[in-house]
Amino acid sequence: MTISKTQVFTAESNGAQMTATIDRCAWMHPAYGLQLTVKMGNSCPGTLNNKALRFELATIEDIQQMLKGIRVVACKECAEPVFDPATVLVNGQGKCFPCVMKELDAELEESTRLDADDIAQRDAKYKKEGCTHRVEAWVHPASGDDWRVSFWIIDPTDEAIQEILRKETSQVLDDYTLFKL
Ligand SMILES: [Zn+2]
Repeated sequence: MTISKTQVFTAESNGAQMTATIDRCAWMHPAYGLQLTVKMGNSCPGTLNNKALRFELATIEDIQQMLKGIRVVACKECAEPVFDPATVLVNGQGKCFPCVMKELDAELEESTRLDADDIAQRDAKYKKEGCTHRVEAWVHPASGDDWRVSFWIIDPTDEAIQEILRKETSQVLDDYTLFKL
């Protein structure tokens, strides 16, 4: 029995239920072979490809055979079932999706904290050298993305700050905030 484009397949491994759907590329580009997206609980989704199998010729048994090869392991962090990366192409390096997201959040927080530490250190350094203010400004170039610049300055005037922003080739000269050291 052949399969339809929208068919949903189910399989079980280690008591965990997974579902599989057929990727568009399987019938749009025959050279892709039969490609499935598999999903299961909190696991990151997996991709399974059988290059030799053409969509028009594939049967339910072929799909079940592909799914049989998938093993399930415990998330390294929380032990929730996740796809074994050795058996299916999957992101997360053996961790479930919520654990991956938690880790990304923690990394982002850490890098923000490092930035704050870095600014505080430079504030102290430039204050010692006689600077009175830090300027946080956006440079708006004539083309391309805006970018942010910090500089330290002694008794700044608007003209002095605008002169610096002009040298940075900013088209806007008043997009800045002054912080007293
Ligand atoms: Zn987890």
